[in-house]
Amino acid sequence: MRQRQPPSYYINGLRAGDRLVLSRAITLVESQLPSDQLLARQVLEGVLPHIPQTSVRVGITGVPGVGKSTFIETFGTYLTGLGKQLAVLAIDPTSQRSGGSILGDKTRMESLSMDPRAYIRPSPAGDSLGGVAHRTRETMLLCEAAGFDVILIETVGVGQSETLVHGMVDFFLLLMLAGAGDELQGMKRGIMELADALAITKADGDNTNAAKRARVEYQNALHLFPPTGSGWQPPVLTCSALTGTGIGGVWAMIERHQTIFQQSGERLRHRQTQSLDWFRTLLRQQIEQQFFSQSGMAERLEQLESQVRLGTLLPTQAVDQLIRP
Ligand code: GDP
Repeated sequence: MRQRQPPSYYINGLRAGDRLVLSRAITLVESQLPSDQLLARQVLEGVLPHIPQTSVRVGITGVPGVGKSTFIETFGTYLTGLGKQLAVLAIDPTSQRSGGSILGDKTRMESLSMDPRAYIRPSPAGDSLGGVAHRTRETMLLCEAAGFDVILIETVGVGQSETLVHGMVDFFLLLMLAGAGDELQGMKRGIMELADALAITKADGDNTNAAKRARVEYQNALHLFPPTGSGWQPPVLTCSALTGTGIGGVWAMIERHQTIFQQSGERLRHRQTQSLDWFRTLLRQQIEQQFFSQSGMAERLEQLESQVRLGTLLPTQAVDQLIRP
């Protein structure tokens, strides 16, 4: 049986940058136990006033095989080399089914996982995607409270997870492969529209020229998209996680974006909107959960649904009866 620690243990440990305490606090955030959830909330409330607003939150996405984990390994090592404290988190929609995680296999980021300035936390499994997103946001806050100033959130380029990650970061980076003209067609336009920048990976060896060509193609494609309200035109870069070429350029570009957005006030507005969206999503989830867990609700629903199915009751009438019994 795990010994129960008071909130002050977590709050003080986090503020001192203690990684063991950070890991334990994240475990609380991920727990489904009501007592853990209460403690997690007390811890978050306790650290919230001390969380610096200076962190950089970067989302990284791309189809499996594009080179995300290799990129994060090289990019992350570059950042810790600059003296940054780096946390790497993940949102993995597949982890619900497999119980695994895109970061579960730490050997994929071998040197980064040994790096004293880096902290890697696999994606929590066994939860809904919305639940995972909520926990990742709280985990991100805990990491920031523990002094991490760059947060990378990795997600696989499938499904809804990009939108969720986009909703919690300052900068959203899309990794792409060269020589994929067809891919450009097949690529979900929506994901490209979310990106603050594209980086063509594996720009090394025989692939160097193809990467340069792809850069021009993607840059042209992006010009066809309507401009974003902020005036930022997403750049397309090339890089190699194997040789390190272009890796520094990716960070320089993110810093440029941060400076521009900081000065214009856009960064703050963006974070405020994200917090509000998070609040509204949680509120809706909570109301829905409370509503459907009322006693006798399942039977009432079944009754009404069978009447709706038979056509003896209009859906609007059924809703009225449920909401105003
Ligand atoms: P992920 O599925 O997106 O995380 O992709 P991985 O990081 O696992 O990389 C997929 C494959 O691409 C691996 O075999 C890597 O060794 C290879 N790879 C990744 N980055 C590079 C790169 O910059 N250059 C080259 N040549 N290969 C790379």
